[in-house]
Amino acid sequence: MSRVYNFSAGPSMLPVPVLEKAAGELLEYGETGQSVMEMSHRSAAFEPIINETQVLIREVMGIPDNYKVLFLQGGASSQFAAVPMNLMTKNRKADYVLSGQFSTKAYKEACRYGDCKTVASSKDDNFSHIPAIDKSQLRPDADYLHICMNNTIYGTFWHTLPDSGDVPLVADISSCILSQPIDITRFGLLYAGAQKNVAPAGLTLVLVREDLIGETLPGTPTMFDYKVMADNDSMYNTPPCWPIYMCKLVLEWIKNDVGGLDKMKERNEKKAGVLYDFLDNSRLFKPCAEKDSRSIMNVTFITGDKDLDAKFVKESAAAGFVNLKGHRSVGGMRASIYNAMPPEGVDKLVEFMQEFESRNG
Ligand SMILES: *Cc1c(COP(=O)(O)O)cnc(C)c1O
Repeated sequence: MSRVYNFSAGPSMLPVPVLEKAAGELLEYGETGQSVMEMSHRSAAFEPIINETQVLIREVMGIPDNYKVLFLQGGASSQFAAVPMNLMTKNRKADYVLSGQFSTKAYKEACRYGDCKTVASSKDDNFSHIPAIDKSQLRPDADYLHICMNNTIYGTFWHTLPDSGDVPLVADISSCILSQPIDITRFGLLYAGAQKNVAPAGLTLVLVREDLIGETLPGTPTMFDYKVMADNDSMYNTPPCWPIYMCKLVLEWIKNDVGGLDKMKERNEKKAGVLYDFLDNSRLFKPCAEKDSRSIMNVTFITGDKDLDAKFVKESAAAGFVNLKGHRSVGGMRASIYNAMPPEGVDKLVEFMQEFESRNG
């Protein structure tokens, strides 16, 4: 068996010790005589799995007691609708910052449910940075302010959160969840698809302050009602049992093997630093994101020559560094270096890039 270094933006690598543990328990979980994939979600065997995952995520992320953690399906994209359906209920107004494609999709979806306003955008700069917010643009009577914390396609990150005053801040954290500590109390709601840093695809996490839920827009499907999901401990219907179990293993890996989110951040910053240092000094490759907005999860770069970019993508894949092609809408290259990418994966990629540069520079 040989495993590649997988730089995919998502679904993406999972930690090897997690995959090994799951493989060891695949045919029989504990002494149940069955796989987690085969269990009833109401069984005595599964109940502790979802309960322990809930306890662990609260511990690892430092989630206060007045927040609910929901284990849902439908991906982050379903939350583009669920958020307004549950939160745009007082004044039917919400403010959005456009910092990339996902935040733009979130905005467009929310426009179907109420009065949405773009309060800042970096579209004119091809989303190469996080836009500055002119505070006079923010509406004090908005039901929430929405941001996408890590822009997966462009490789940018909100290093300083916007001050939304009394307006609840909502963030899509799909591609930065569990990569570093987050001060949950700054937010009214956080959501994430699991397939970047948490688990296989199929699980969507929502962290929401209790006082914000209960009311929904007319016509909201029961499955999109946060209160229904919260009151039923995410078991109103069948939850994504296997990804929840995998999420538990990933959380155990972060807590016990890595040493928590502070350590995770240190590790991720070091990894990203190696790549950015190389890009800043390269004669051939150029980083795309502006320095003060750089993501430590998704690193975007180009050579400036489309044919050379294509050659690099092809040759790197042949050398065992796969999925370095940039998003289809922007081109160039992108190295997604989520939690599970080992430091040596980045070191070896940089070695390969140096060698490519000496041959093509
Ligand atoms: C991947 C991603 C999405 C889309 O997630 P789905 O689970 O596929 O709907 C949304 N937002 C961000 C920031 C992402 O990285």
